[in-house]
Amino acid sequence: MERPSAEHLTETEVVVVGGGYAGLAAALRLHDNDVDFTLVEAADRIGGRVLTETRADGVTVDHGGQWVGPTQTRLVELAARFGCRTFPTWETGSHIEVWNDGGRVPYTGAAPADGPGIAEYVRVTKVLDELAREVDTVRPWRTPRCTEWDARTAGSFFRSRTDDADARRRLDLAVQGLWCAEPDEISLFHVLFYIAAAGGFEQLMETRGCAQDSRFTTGAAGPARAVAALLKERVRLGERVRSIAHDTQGVHVRTESAVLRARRAIVAVPPHAVRAMGFTPPLPDSRTGWLSHSPMGRVAKIHAVYDTPFWRESGLSGVATLYDDGPVGVVFDNSPEDGSCGVLVGFVYGSRLDRFSTLDAGSRRAAVLRGLVTVAGPRAGAPRDYTEKIWTQDPFARGGYEAYTTPGGWSGFGEHGWREPTGALHWAGTETASEWNGYIDGAVSSGYRAAEEVLAALRTDGRP
Ligand SMILES: Cc1cc2nc3c(=O)[nH]c(=O)nc-3n(C[C@H](O)[C@H](O)[C@H](O)COP(=O)(O)OP(=O)(O)OC[C@H]3O[C@@H](n4cnc5c(N)ncnc54)[C@H](O)[C@@H]3O)c2cc1C
Repeated sequence: MERPSAEHLTETEVVVVGGGYAGLAAALRLHDNDVDFTLVEAADRIGGRVLTETRADGVTVDHGGQWVGPTQTRLVELAARFGCRTFPTWETGSHIEVWNDGGRVPYTGAAPADGPGIAEYVRVTKVLDELAREVDTVRPWRTPRCTEWDARTAGSFFRSRTDDADARRRLDLAVQGLWCAEPDEISLFHVLFYIAAAGGFEQLMETRGCAQDSRFTTGAAGPARAVAALLKERVRLGERVRSIAHDTQGVHVRTESAVLRARRAIVAVPPHAVRAMGFTPPLPDSRTGWLSHSPMGRVAKIHAVYDTPFWRESGLSGVATLYDDGPVGVVFDNSPEDGSCGVLVGFVYGSRLDRFSTLDAGSRRAAVLRGLVTVAGPRAGAPRDYTEKIWTQDPFARGGYEAYTTPGGWSGFGEHGWREPTGALHWAGTETASEWNGYIDGAVSSGYRAAEEVLAALRTDGRP
C-alpha cells in the first residue's frame, strides 16, 4: 500500500464512509461497543437522502425521506432513544383522484371504491402480494423462482396479467411512486423482494399503520442530528472518499485531504457512489456486477407553503393521486403538526421527472402549481413560499428514493455482490437491507448489521 504523509494520516480502528442514516447507525453501534472509529462524509452536512430545512419563515420542510411507520422498529427505537417525537400524517377529509381525462373524483379510505381499472388493479396487486410471500428476504437468490422472476420486468408482468389500460395506468403510477422508475426498467423480482421486505403491498402504499403513518416534529433529520451530536468530532464533514486500498492487514481510505488507516471499513453510500470510488485491488466481479444493475430512482420533491391549510375548510385532506399529463403524481398535506400554516408536498418521479427536469425553473413551478390548483382549488396557485429539490441533481445522492435492481441483478450477482463483505470492506446503506429496503429504517438496520459484522471480525482478529 502507498505510504501517506504523516500529517494527514488518521489511525483508527474502523472507518465509516457516509453520514446518512446507515453510516450514522453503524457508527453509533461501534460507539456503543467502545470501538474507535472515524466517520467521513462528503457533504457539509449529515443526513444524506434525509434533508430537513428550516425555511426563512421558520417552516420546516423535509426535502428527502420524511415518513416513518409503526413496523419500522429500528428507526422508531432510534428516535425514541434521542427523544424525537412524531405526529400522525394528516389525512382527514376527502382525497382527490385526478384521472387522465381531467376528471376529479373525491374519495375516502385507501383507494376509490370504484373507478376506471380499480378492480383489475386490486386483483394484480393481490397477485404481487401472493408472489412476494415466496421471497426469502435474507438470501433472496434462494427464492425458488428468483431466476424466472428476475429475468423479466415488472412492466412485462403487468402486460401478461391484464389488458385493462386503466389498471395498467394505476400500476404504472404505483411503480413510479414506490421506486421512482418505470415498470419496464425494474426487475419483477426486485419488486417482489421489496414488497416482502416491507411486509406487504399495503404497508408500502398506505398511511395509517403503514409506511406513511407519521412525521417527525423536528423533521426527519432530527434523530440523525442527535446521533451526530453524540459522536462529536469523530464525524468529519466535507471529506469525500476517492479511493480505498484494502488487504488482509486493513484499509487505507483516501479522501480529498487525508488518509485514514484502519482495520476495517464500513462503506455506507448508495451503489453509484461505490462505483465512483477507486479500489485497490479492484472489487470482485460479483460486486461490480451488482452495482451496475443498481441505478438510482429519479425523483423531485416540491413544497408549496400557504398561510393556512385552507383545503381542510372545504373538507379536503390534501391527499391526491394524479393520472393526468402534469408532472406531479402524488400530493400530501405536509403542514406542521399544529396547522399554523399550510404545506402541500408533491412528488415528480420516473419519466415524469425526465420531462420536468428539461423545463426552466419558472415553467416547472407553473406546471406544479397547475396540479396543486386541480387538487386544492385556485388558492393553491399562490403559495407564500415554494421550494423544489431535484434529487437526480444532488451531487452525492444522484437520485432517490433509492437504487432499484434491473433484470439479472439479483439472480446473477445477488449472492456474492449484494452485501457480502469484500475482505476488510463491509457494505451498508438502505439498498443492502432485508427489512424496509429503500427506507430510512432499512438504512438504520443495514448500519447495525455491518457494524455487527465488523465487531465479530475484530473479535476474530484478536481485539480484546
Ligand atoms: C425524495 C425522497 C423521499 C423519501 N421518502 C422517504 C420516506 O418518507 N420514508 C423513508 O423511510 N424513506 C424515504 N426515502 C428514502 C430514504 O431517505 C433513504 O432510504 C435513506 O435516507 C438512505 O440512507 P443511507 O444512509 O442508506 O444513504 P444516504 O442517505 O444516501 O447516505 C449516504 C451518505 O454518503 C455520502 N457519500 C456519498 N459518496 C461519498 C463519498 N465518496 N465519500 C464520503 N461520503 C459519501 C452522502 O453524501 C450521504 O450523506 C426518501 C428519499 C428521497 C430522496
